Amino acid sequence: MKIAKNVSGAKSKISMMWKELKNLLKGVVSQRSAEIILAALEIKDRPVDIFAIANLLEVKVRTADTKDEVLLHFSEGNPTIFVRHDAPSVRQRFSVAHALGHLFLHSEDNNSNIYFSDASFNSNSIMEMQANRFAANILIPENELIELVENKTPKNQIANYFGVSEGVLSWQISDIL
Ligand SMILES: [Zn+2]
Repeated sequence: MKIAKNVSGAKSKISMMWKELKNLLKGVVSQRSAEIILAALEIKDRPVDIFAIANLLEVKVRTADTKDEVLLHFSEGNPTIFVRHDAPSVRQRFSVAHALGHLFLHSEDNNSNIYFSDASFNSNSIMEMQANRFAANILIPENELIELVENKTPKNQIANYFGVSEGVLSWQISDIL
């Protein structure tokens, strides 16, 4: 795929890649967008390094002393994701993936100086469900999960392998199997 070649290219190409990725995802159902991004960025290691993906896309990630799970701040159109500083690492990883889901699926290109906060991910709104689905799919690629479950790998080992909580893993298993 053409986009993958740009990853190691000049920095100026990255924002172009971001636009290309977003275009690539237009009209794609959210279930598939995560796997398209993993393939395009050639992310093959597990657990998926969600911080590296944010970095590749020039999205800053910071910790914050906040009660919210994740905050998404646009300054002059540049996004920064803030995760709760005292959240467990699996939770921070999910938060970053969830926020990237909002960025890919719901943000406009001309955002400026807007703050989004996610107190929890349990809302029934369609956008929240889409961001959760995106997060689970980018951290737990479906085809790999199916193989591990079919091989009767213990759940805690699968959760460790993907760097997710067992709660998120169970949710993903019930959703795709
Ligand atoms: Zn959200």
